[in-house]
Amino acid sequence: MSLFDKFKPLIDIRAELDRAGVMPFGAVTEKILSPTEAIVNGHKVILAGTNNYLGLTFEPECIEAAQKALAEQGTGTTGSRMANGTFAGHVALEQELAAFFARQHCIVFSTGYAATMGMGSTLAGPGDVIVLDADSHASIYDGVRLGGADVVRFKHNDVADLEKRLRRLGERTANTLIIVEGIYSMLGDQAPLADIAEVKNKYGGLLMVDEAHSLGMLGSHGRGVAEAARVEAAVDFTVGTFSKSLGAIGGYCVSDHPELEAIRFAIRSYIFTASPSPSIIASTRVALRLMQERPELRERLWANAQRLYDGLKGLGFQVSPQVSPVVAVTIKDRDQAIAWWSRLLHNGAYVNLVMPPASPTTDSLLRCSVSAAHSDAQIDRIISAFAQLNPSTAQEANN
Ligand code: PMP
Repeated sequence: MSLFDKFKPLIDIRAELDRAGVMPFGAVTEKILSPTEAIVNGHKVILAGTNNYLGLTFEPECIEAAQKALAEQGTGTTGSRMANGTFAGHVALEQELAAFFARQHCIVFSTGYAATMGMGSTLAGPGDVIVLDADSHASIYDGVRLGGADVVRFKHNDVADLEKRLRRLGERTANTLIIVEGIYSMLGDQAPLADIAEVKNKYGGLLMVDEAHSLGMLGSHGRGVAEAARVEAAVDFTVGTFSKSLGAIGGYCVSDHPELEAIRFAIRSYIFTASPSPSIIASTRVALRLMQERPELRERLWANAQRLYDGLKGLGFQVSPQVSPVVAVTIKDRDQAIAWWSRLLHNGAYVNLVMPPASPTTDSLLRCSVSAAHSDAQIDRIISAFAQLNPSTAQEANN
């Protein structure tokens, strides 16, 4: 027996991939050419798996603001938000996010992971209950585990199952936290938030929604699925990240509950980690403004999503249930998925290879995410990289 024994499955997969000459996990971006093109593992590719939804990573105004902050405030804060790491920029960004979401309170975190994990672990502890969607992101599961609340899972996006579980909880719903996502990260499907809000209002408890993949995409202001479903009033806490549509790194939680200002000092992932660097905060603030000033980015994103979705579906691939900036192709056979991921790279398209347990089912995924920065021609090149895979084999692999 050794501490390493439990890693044997991982070591075996790694060896198998090495033998096949494939490096899907931690593929190296050797040169980044633009928001949509790079040299990855030696191949010039269209980037189709970056979550760079609005394509803001090379935005001159963001870069200029980050460079100015770097020159004026240095490379890092060297401390936690609670100690020396709260600069004026952090406070300003919190105010700007609160205003954007039309909420009273906001906390800025160092990563989206720290935001979701921190809120989940702090809001509900021993004796409390967390009811969560079974397909929740690892940051939600990790928070729940750390907090020590009783955990109840409901079937993915199944509101009847959620209701059944809340009903069974009886009076315990008073200290229950319900956690769902807006757009789900792997398949790109949306939570039925109107129905979830109705059930939450009927049974009680608090509702937290992780809009990591929906910020800037849905709702009249781009606030996400809750805004699009017109149920923001039922959402107690919205969490999200700067690492996708805002093109940087960091996370946030917004809420109208005044308690958030005290809760901030109980969140371990806020207290015991250094705050985001001033340059990150500066670029995020500009990106948040640009996201609001340029609704055309969102329109472009959805047009690209539709184009890729139609293209892959037309080729006979099994795509996500809903058109979304995340377009995932499901492949039953893991080896087929690995081989195709590699072929796609050779064909000029970088996508994400997702295998169980990271995928929500026992299937593997070739997960694409589109960007507002993709041109029609680039989307067509992604489709043509898939076309060279022979989709009829895809259908066989799925039978
Ligand atoms: N929540 C969800 C739903 C996510 O998909 C992610 C990242 N994939 C996170 C939280 C964590 O965000 P970050 O990577 O910015 O830390």
